[in-house]
Amino acid sequence: METHLADFIRGTPEGNEAEAILRACVHCGFCTATCPTYQLLGDELDGPRGRIYLIKRVLEGETPTAITAQHLDRCPTCRACETTCPSGVRYARLADIGRAVVARQVPRSWRETLRRTGIRWLFTHPWRLRLMLALLRPLRPLLPVRIAEKLPARQRRLPQPAARHPRQVLVLEGCVQSVATPATNAALARVLDRLGCGMEFVAGCCGALAWHTGAQDQGRARMRGLIARVEDGLQAGAEAFVVTASGCAAMIGEYPDIFRHQPTWVERAQRVAAALRDPSELIAPTVEHWAGVGAGKRIAFHAPCTLQHALHRADAVEAILARAGYLLTPVPEAHLCCGSAGSYSLTQPGISEALRMRKLAALMSGAPTLIATANVGCELHLAARASLPVRHWLELLEPTSSGLGSSIQDAKSSRNQRR
Ligand code: SF4
Ligand code: SF4
Repeated sequence: METHLADFIRGTPEGNEAEAILRACVHCGFCTATCPTYQLLGDELDGPRGRIYLIKRVLEGETPTAITAQHLDRCPTCRACETTCPSGVRYARLADIGRAVVARQVPRSWRETLRRTGIRWLFTHPWRLRLMLALLRPLRPLLPVRIAEKLPARQRRLPQPAARHPRQVLVLEGCVQSVATPATNAALARVLDRLGCGMEFVAGCCGALAWHTGAQDQGRARMRGLIARVEDGLQAGAEAFVVTASGCAAMIGEYPDIFRHQPTWVERAQRVAAALRDPSELIAPTVEHWAGVGAGKRIAFHAPCTLQHALHRADAVEAILARAGYLLTPVPEAHLCCGSAGSYSLTQPGISEALRMRKLAALMSGAPTLIATANVGCELHLAARASLPVRHWLELLEPTSSGLGSSIQDAKSSRNQRR
């Protein structure tokens, strides 16, 4: 697409990057067919081609309006369009650049600013979230349904395997995940133990929540902190950096792009991204350890957008679960976002809810007995409305380590509490 950038951005690192992305787009529109918001809203400007056009006009000097910001805000950055695009257009990176420019010119309302600040304040500090859950869980029957359904069912904290191994990996503890779904990393510890590998937690936030709620400087600060801690662990001998939440892993995979214009940080970001591993990469070569554990149980796998469109590991996880003896039921429209998308369910509740119900209908269509996924956000979002347990797929490899046997009861009781 021919582009003539305005003076304010022409020749800057971001301008050059945006221009190259815009020139790659041939405006064919193939991407609109797989865009969840276009599917729901039917407006060209709520699809990738329309959003690319909006960003192009802003970068060419047109003054953005609140409507421009709204069309960009409605995008959950699921990246389905990147998977579909035959020209390799890096939409998400363009959206990052475009959103930052629009945010400087279109101030958010005080209500929206407060909401986004509150999201960052609460969810990126585990102790705050832990305290809030401790206060609200006993009040669940008195709370409005829309709040009560967001409170995750309690998961048991399980002891780590005692065995020590010469091999060590680093594992991101996560902010929301460490509080709301600790069974995920507990299951990973058991998996690693079987592989003869120990683990050491790396604390801290990957920066995704700040990055995607318009606080890019705060996001970069968190990213720099995590990079430094992972570097320390790698220097101490850890062989990899394992991240069990695909949303965090996708963000960390983007660090080299985010820091590409900061020479002092880009190499460090590349080192961390190179050490990054999805658990499926460790498990796939030795999957026979878990052969038969599924015993033919019917499950539906919800591949988070970050797992399928950013990390490209959805097929690998499904293959592991099938090899482990689970029967994966068909899931129509598997490429569509479930509406969780980090803070999206809080900033765009209407669209998020429509996407969730569409996703749950698709997941339930094959009559599974459990829904598996790979990201804490999707897990909590779907579990709030699902009539079946929703768990991280690692728990299915080590079902006793996570108390999975009791999760059906958990799902039933939390549903009853919402009634
Ligand atoms: S982003 Fe790709 S698929 Fe979409 S209009 Fe541009 S070239 Fe076509
Ligand atoms: S990232 Fe997802 S929602 Fe956003 S434009 Fe692309 S396909 Fe549509």
